[in-house]
Amino acid sequence: MTKRFDPELLYVECTRCGQPLLWGVGETTKLLNMAGIDISGIDERCMLASDGCPSCQPDETQFSTQVVRLTKDAKPRVEELPADA
Ligand SMILES: [Zn+2]
Repeated sequence: MTKRFDPELLYVECTRCGQPLLWGVGETTKLLNMAGIDISGIDERCMLASDGCPSCQPDETQFSTQVVRLTKDAKPRVEELPADA
């Protein structure tokens, strides 16, 4: 029995500025297809990481996207950037 997960429910975050991205209806599915990502392997424990977004890279129109699988035991990890970064 296969429970189909709606890819439109995926949380998408920009890896450059950390903003959550809100795409229009159907955009997520379209992007996943374009990226060659198998939607059937995606569930609610996955999120999408976008390499840039229109707000931090206004000149770009296409961003590479990858699926990040969140593990149940994952603890939030805070990385501190060096002050001179
Ligand atoms: Zn961004």
